[in-house]
Amino acid sequence: MSIPDALDRLLDPVEATTIIRTHTTVLPTERVRLAELAGRVLMEDVISDADQPPFPAATMDGYAVIAADTIPVRRIVGDQFAGTIEAFHVERGTAAYITTGAPLPPGADTVVPIERTTETAAGVRIGEMPRAGQNIRPVGSDLTRGDRVLAAGTVLTPAAVGLLASLGKTDGLTTRRPRVSVLATGDELVEPGQPLGPGQIHDSNRFALVTALAPLGVTVSYAGLAPDTDDAQRAFLIERIADSDVVITSGGVSMGRKDLIKGLLIELATVHFRQVRMRPGKPFTFATAGPTGKTLLFGLPGNPVSGLVGFEVFVRPALLAMQGYQQSDRPHARVRLIHDVTPIDRIDYMRVALRRADDGVLEAASTGPQQSSRLASFIGADALAIIPSRDMPYAAGEMVDALLLGLVA
Ligand code: AMP
Ligand code: MG
Repeated sequence: MSIPDALDRLLDPVEATTIIRTHTTVLPTERVRLAELAGRVLMEDVISDADQPPFPAATMDGYAVIAADTIPVRRIVGDQFAGTIEAFHVERGTAAYITTGAPLPPGADTVVPIERTTETAAGVRIGEMPRAGQNIRPVGSDLTRGDRVLAAGTVLTPAAVGLLASLGKTDGLTTRRPRVSVLATGDELVEPGQPLGPGQIHDSNRFALVTALAPLGVTVSYAGLAPDTDDAQRAFLIERIADSDVVITSGGVSMGRKDLIKGLLIELATVHFRQVRMRPGKPFTFATAGPTGKTLLFGLPGNPVSGLVGFEVFVRPALLAMQGYQQSDRPHARVRLIHDVTPIDRIDYMRVALRRADDGVLEAASTGPQQSSRLASFIGADALAIIPSRDMPYAAGEMVDALLLGLVA
């Protein structure tokens, strides 16, 4: 089998990302009920077909009155609760009890908060009178009929789903969920829970990857383990390519004789690149395949940290972009190194813990030994500090970019 040399060109992560982007298409849409929309992306503009509120509504519990009326004690004509429209009018010398959200009775032009009133036998005594129009939400003040309330591309946050419901919608248009298959490869791998034979280790990558996928709104349709035989891995790839939007493999993409995924992807797919100028995670294969070329294949290296960093930098953004996310990268921040760092000949994604220094700047400290087999280097890591290659060492106090992995306190 001949392997084109161009495939082994060492790409910068930015270039690799661009190539992945050009092959990533937004998935077809489906209508999904409100309760299942959390975190997905709205794929249609939503226009308000009515004013909200549809009637002038009280914003306080109190009494609806006429602001210009000077009569000190007013006869109470009735109660106007939220959810009904009573028949009475408010005139000079009268007031209506009203609750928050209730329609303002005809005639009234302001609401006196309950705290500024005293009830007497003759009626209600008003203390300080608000101006006309105060404590009232005018018709259409929250939403005006014809407004574009939500634009296609909006992430369905609690507020966005709440807005859909407030418009009376029962569902929203979003993409279907990506179907993702995961395969860990390696003759040395044993299921957790099973005893280890000589030279064996437990498969950790499959579980780390499934956990990384969990918050991304995907359906993991398969997650399994295969030995290092061409037949087993080929059968998996053929079956999963046909049935998946994304196939993620772990292991078998380096230079060893048992690195079979590398060759199988050449055989079964179109490989776009397989080396990125980064540490960890330099051997990283990206390919596309399937009947329409729409299945994305990510061949992650087997070293546990390399696989997870590759997932963070390349796979996660692609999975979000497929679901219509316009901003699919983790947020970046400038952080200050608190110790010297020796750069290498590639971009180093260093696991760091962050804390906010007294001057307000985020400070980054390495989580310890950074070798790509040491999964523990991810524990307590808030970010990946991005250390570009250069001749001079980085000195404590220098600022670098960092990819934030989660919320930073
Ligand atoms: P490979 O990329 O297949 O050459 O594997 C590189 C290193 O990662 C080797 O030390 C493997 O034993 C280890 N490794 C590969 N797959 C896994 C896995 N699923 N879980 C834990 N370690 C793995
Ligand atoms: Mg292997």
